[in-house]
Amino acid sequence: MDETIEYKFGHKCVPNGTGDYTFVCPTKGKKPGFIPWGYRKLLTGYCKCGYVIMLQKETFDVWMEGYLATGMEGIPQRATYLGSYEGDTFADACEAAIKDNYPNDTKLFDKTRLSWWGCRMYDNETDARKSFG
Ligand SMILES: [Zn+2]
Repeated sequence: MDETIEYKFGHKCVPNGTGDYTFVCPTKGKKPGFIPWGYRKLLTGYCKCGYVIMLQKETFDVWMEGYLATGMEGIPQRATYLGSYEGDTFADACEAAIKDNYPNDTKLFDKTRLSWWGCRMYDNETDARKSFG
């Protein structure tokens, strides 16, 4: 573990070279010896400057490709934009998107294949529209 961990509002955990991290607050300065719990798993915490610090997560656009089922008279359901979701990985963002959009059908989500009910999920519109527009 030797990467800087970024939190919201400019807070950081910077490796100090001895397997430990130095916590840096943009207003209160360095606070040595701060070790994120489990190295990366400090998701939220409090800082003396008054901010609640949170891991700076990435945001992904989540698209689902369309599909053509029998009984649809050859007119496919086109790709759908599910929204913008935070996650450590795109798979996490997809999981959040499914929970939000299809809360009763989360079992149909396959986190390994990144699909829901067989429809693949993408982080961009172009790829999502390749199959069914
Ligand atoms: Zn602070």
